[in-house]
Amino acid sequence: MIIAERRPIPEILENIAPYSRVLVLGCRGCVAVCSAGGDREVAILAEAIRLAREREGKPIEVIERTFMRQCDPEYLEPLNELLPQVEAIVSLACGVGVNLIADLYPSARVYPGVDTSFYGANVALGKWVEKCRGCGDCIIDKTAGLCPIARCAKNLLNGPCGGSQGGRCEVRKDMPCVWHMIIERLKERGELERLLEITPPKDWRPAGGDGLRIRVRPDLA
Ligand code: SF4
Ligand code: SF4
Repeated sequence: MIIAERRPIPEILENIAPYSRVLVLGCRGCVAVCSAGGDREVAILAEAIRLAREREGKPIEVIERTFMRQCDPEYLEPLNELLPQVEAIVSLACGVGVNLIADLYPSARVYPGVDTSFYGANVALGKWVEKCRGCGDCIIDKTAGLCPIARCAKNLLNGPCGGSQGGRCEVRKDMPCVWHMIIERLKERGELERLLEITPPKDWRPAGGDGLRIRVRPDLA
């Protein structure tokens, strides 16, 4: 899922300082699952905004809503009714949602309420770890399903670097060396020879190196 975390409240308050009616808009997608932008976080942020503005002597009306998703135009339709009621939106969706609102409602002043961080997995209560960088040309069929681009501190395609000790990364001592894991796993499967083939330098264009990435599925269009 996409992992995000709420932006510092002072930054959010600064963005909405000129306004007296705002919409705090959550999303029930990834940001709700990682506890950054669902119903609960909308309520917490809305209350924090109200309290801060009361303290400043500049009360503000805050409308709270959470949409099923903000990355899909059909779920944004209620904005047609909501936008005339507010001067600005604080979106707790990932950057995709904020961008789509800005695209579809050019006159809306929409501000991000979260920092969009990475694609990760929930590995423990309250802990998410990056697993994929969305490079657009997946290579983990060769690396036992473990991604060296996201999980190796040097993003090595032909690891390990030689610095790992006791299975830990030499750069990030708090994480395992993913290349150590890859080798151990392939060894267990009797597939170590897969690593004899040198992986050539990666073509980063599918990762967005030459700009916006677009995917079209003619069968769905
Ligand atoms: S190789 Fe690319 S697409 Fe595959 S998991 Fe790693 S970053 Fe993601
Ligand atoms: S120790 Fe392992 S994970 Fe860390 S930089 Fe070297 S190869 Fe990558």
